[in-house]
Amino acid sequence: MYMQSRLYYDQPYMKEFDTEIEKIEALHPHGYRLILRETAFYPTSGGQPNDKGSIAGVPVFDVTEEDGIIYHHVAQAPQDRLVHCILDWERRFDFMQQHAGQHILSEAFLLHCQAATIGFHLTEDNLTIDLDIAELHEAQIHQVEDTANQMIWENRPIIRHWVAPDDLARLPLRKQPKVHENIRVIEVQDFDWSPCGGTHPASTGEIGSIKIRRWERSKGVTRVEFFCGKRALQDYRWKNKVVLALAQNYSVKDVELEEIVLRQQTQLKELDKRLQEVESSLLQKEAEALLQEAVPIQQIRIVKGVLSAERTLSDMKKMSFFLTQTPNTLVLLSNSALPRQFTFSRSSTINLSLNSTLKVLQKELGGKGGGSELLVQGSYPVEIAPDAYIERFLALVLPQ
Ligand SMILES: [Zn+2]
Repeated sequence: MYMQSRLYYDQPYMKEFDTEIEKIEALHPHGYRLILRETAFYPTSGGQPNDKGSIAGVPVFDVTEEDGIIYHHVAQAPQDRLVHCILDWERRFDFMQQHAGQHILSEAFLLHCQAATIGFHLTEDNLTIDLDIAELHEAQIHQVEDTANQMIWENRPIIRHWVAPDDLARLPLRKQPKVHENIRVIEVQDFDWSPCGGTHPASTGEIGSIKIRRWERSKGVTRVEFFCGKRALQDYRWKNKVVLALAQNYSVKDVELEEIVLRQQTQLKELDKRLQEVESSLLQKEAEALLQEAVPIQQIRIVKGVLSAERTLSDMKKMSFFLTQTPNTLVLLSNSALPRQFTFSRSSTINLSLNSTLKVLQKELGGKGGGSELLVQGSYPVEIAPDAYIERFLALVLPQ
């Protein structure tokens, strides 16, 4: 058993240290993990991700803990036993800000909403807690945010207590410890007491700020996304940039942006409705012109039309619907798009089997598609002229 000392417990600001390698283990298929006599590298645990940095100039890409031993993962083994270690301080301090902010936010939710934190997730770009509450309103969110940030502005000390199991009952703990010995309780002075093995700044002022970004009900919990410290600043920075750029684009003040965007959305919906009405009227006009040119075969009015490439299947179906309202009408439409598309349809007053005729045509000339006895649609090879496809279908469905 290696009796490592965990320097980060009582010296969370240690950025560099000298120590000795006690053991080097080769990993399969490559790399090594090192056991150090003592370490300031925090291993992934308790929801806080591992530190990174270097040992004798060799990058440390992971730090893990197994059976109470901390392992430092490296690609190559250092030459000497005595090593100088450096932490990636920006990464560590970011985790300290986010993690300590979570202690405060969880207590604020308990205080104002009686909502307990039952999950905590911290990664390089995400920070959430899960609450056992069904619903949260904006007013509650603001109240929680205000209290949490008040704790930061008061710059309260964050105190570490090593507590004997018998003394635990004296502390108003927010949650119960998962260990039974070496119990470490983190106190945000006179506000929150929480068992925790993670790293925290010395006082709340260093957290900077806490901002809730969004909240949603998911899988039986309410998930709250938030940012602390530098992350909150960076988040504000890009959002501010977007708001300013949009406001400039609309030539309004940033506070007027929401109103103008919503108003424009309504206008767009109205315009879209108008456009659809105009398009439908155009389609109807085009259909009426085709109907004028219809020729009768065996008492059936044959409407044929090769439309432009811009006319879609949906347009042709709308025209077919309109044209087949006239009794005894067979409507054969195709566009000149690539691939070529068609709709063949008929009034319900005549008895022609469009679907089975299409199958015969497809065997002969190729193509894809199908439908009902009243309307078939699909596409066919580009080398076939639209006229030819229509005429062949007509010859098959109405043999003369
Ligand atoms: Zn903690």
